[in-house]
Amino acid sequence: MKIADGPYRAYTPAPFTRAERDHVTVLFGGLHWRAERVVQAVFDNLGYRARVLPTATREDLQAGRELADIGQCCPTSFTTGNLVNFLKTEARQHGAADVSKRYVYVTAGACGACRFGQYHQSYELALRNSGFDAFRLFLLAQDQLDQGDIAGGGLEIDLPFTLGALWAVLVTDVLQDLEYQVRPFEVVPGETERVVRECVEHLAEVFRTRPRRGKKWGALAWHLTTSYFTRALREVRTRFDSIEVDRLRVKPVVKITGEFYLQTVEGDPNYNIHRWLEAEGAEVYPAAVAVWLDYWMRWYVQEFEPYLGIDRWARAKIGGVRGLQLLFRWTYTRFRAALGHVPRALPDQYELRRLAAPYFHHRLSGGEGDMLVAKALWAHLNKKAHMTCELSPYACMPNTMSIGAMAAVVGHHPDLLYAPLEVKGDAEVHALSRCQMILTEAKKRAQREYDETLARTGLTTAEVRAYIDAHPEMRRATYRVPPGNVAGTAARLVLDVARRAAPRRARRAS
Ligand code: SF4
Repeated sequence: MKIADGPYRAYTPAPFTRAERDHVTVLFGGLHWRAERVVQAVFDNLGYRARVLPTATREDLQAGRELADIGQCCPTSFTTGNLVNFLKTEARQHGAADVSKRYVYVTAGACGACRFGQYHQSYELALRNSGFDAFRLFLLAQDQLDQGDIAGGGLEIDLPFTLGALWAVLVTDVLQDLEYQVRPFEVVPGETERVVRECVEHLAEVFRTRPRRGKKWGALAWHLTTSYFTRALREVRTRFDSIEVDRLRVKPVVKITGEFYLQTVEGDPNYNIHRWLEAEGAEVYPAAVAVWLDYWMRWYVQEFEPYLGIDRWARAKIGGVRGLQLLFRWTYTRFRAALGHVPRALPDQYELRRLAAPYFHHRLSGGEGDMLVAKALWAHLNKKAHMTCELSPYACMPNTMSIGAMAAVVGHHPDLLYAPLEVKGDAEVHALSRCQMILTEAKKRAQREYDETLARTGLTTAEVRAYIDAHPEMRRATYRVPPGNVAGTAARLVLDVARRAAPRRARRAS
């Protein structure tokens, strides 16, 4: 390892010029594959060459630990090692100097309380230790929608780019939520996967051919009002319509929470937890990226609140951010509506804050702040899930605080099923067996809830099934089972059938 001479200097990449756009590829990653594919289409749409990094693996984690700070949080090690290993593979074909000319890397940056603010240092150290000193990486500020030209003009983080990426995340969030509500109940195995892949390609094409509507207010107004994206989602709905489901399979609903990267990716970085849970018989309630974006706006409201009565503009600032938050949530609801409202609504951020308040102060930022505590309570108290599986990165300071606070939450709510899994790459068996123990209890709860719902409604499974067979629309993936005071999909379906069949049963009884 080389030791740098002289005082510390913040990382400054060499410029990436506009003339290089045609032959330099922008690398990015760190989201789930659906969002990454559609964000790639946003880059294409704006004339960039872009490539998604492969999902990080355990080898990447080891490389990240070896090449950067061994004590850093595991998402940093995963993403750092992922980039370096990709570059090394490319360098074997083209040489390190050529690779540094062919690619640049773009990721989100921050200056918050956690190590998220130090990602660039980790990358820089790892790149230097791997012979890629000349490689250029760019951090995008999270809190500016329009950042203009970045470092040489090759990257332009303007409203068409930011809105495109944001909209890509929102449409793939609702698609992911729909997918996870369908796959556990599909009648023909593999059908959901096939349709989802088709839909992601369809959405990618829609974003790749997105019309240009100005660079500032025109772009914003168009994105907020156009039916371009809702039309694309209605096409997704039509494709999902063909999937037949059997929602009477009793399954526990498992809410995924945790650190942003670990709860979002699907693969080695989180022990493939989504697929593992499905294979174990659960219905997964995935973590929408939109919830974090919504939290980020709440975070700004909280920043301004203490200035009420001191700063005369504080109220206006709060109103402005609240207005943005309303527009954001309204857009998300429009996208849900295009999929028949089957994808779940975003939790109210101010309810989350209220729920977490006795255990975790809302001004403690970093990572997901008070949301980890809040989401576990929200899912439990509102019967959104039977169990919460929290993905906790090794060496994550904010997450360690949440886990500590959860001890008090579980003390006050002993019936809350909570599985915090420490993710550090080499303890998979231990983490999954811990999850399995709690999942066993969640399965029993789901079955008990289903049996009680049948008893309450006076129906039998055979009667419910007969009703569904007589109403084929209820066997479609896009049929919306209304929410009820139960968490399980099968139990909600029983309630739905009871409601729908009530007049007929009443007629028969009279
Ligand atoms: S929240 Fe935790 S895991 Fe995520 S970047 Fe910050 S310290 Fe690392």
